[in-house]
Amino acid sequence: MNLRIRVKGARGPDPVERPPPGEREGTRVLERGRRPPPGLTVYVERRPLESMLRRAGVAGDYEVGGFLLGASCRHDGRRFVEITAQVPAVKAESARAHLTFGVEAVREFHETHAERYPGTTVLGWWHTHPGYGLFLSSDDMFIHTSFYAAEHHVAIVIDPRAGPREEIGVFVWEEPGEVSPRPRSLVVYEDERPRRAPRRER
Ligand SMILES: [Zn+2]
Repeated sequence: MNLRIRVKGARGPDPVERPPPGEREGTRVLERGRRPPPGLTVYVERRPLESMLRRAGVAGDYEVGGFLLGASCRHDGRRFVEITAQVPAVKAESARAHLTFGVEAVREFHETHAERYPGTTVLGWWHTHPGYGLFLSSDDMFIHTSFYAAEHHVAIVIDPRAGPREEIGVFVWEEPGEVSPRPRSLVVYEDERPRRAPRRER
C-alpha cells in the first residue's frame, strides 16, 4: 500500500533566527550523536529526553508515546529544531506491541496545543517499539505523513529493550516526501538558564 497523504504546504512556520544550543549563552551540549541527519539537526533538551526514556522504561512491553514541542530555528543558513518539552498522548491506547496513536488523539492535541502550550511549535511525535527496533512502520508513516509532513517535523522512536546503543533514533524529512531511511542521532543539550515558571512534565 502506498500512502501519499500530504498536509497542506510542507514549509512549516518561519524559523526563529538564533544560534543553536552550545553556541548560545546558558546552553551546553552533552552528547553529539554519531549519525546526525543531513539538513536538519535535532536538538533535545535533557529533561524531556529523560522523561521520554523513563516513560518508555516503565511501560515495558507496552507501547507509549506523545508529542514533541519546542522551536524551529535557523542560524547561518543551518536549520535545526530544539525539543524543549514532551507531552504524553494520554488518549492513545496502549497495548502490547501496538499503539493506537489514533487520529483523534493527535487531532485533540493539536486543537488544544496553542492554549495549553503557548509560544511553542509542534515538532512531531514520539513512541516506543519495545524489543523490535527503530523504524517507522506503515501505520507510523500514515500518522507522520498525515500530521507531520512539514520540513521541521520529526518522529522519535525508542526501543527500551535494545540496550543503550540503539535505544533511540529520530526520523526527519531528508527530501520532500522522503523520511530518513535509518534512525538518526539526536544532539542532547542542557539549558541552564533559570525557568520563568516551574514546568509540569511527567
Ligand atoms: Zn511504531
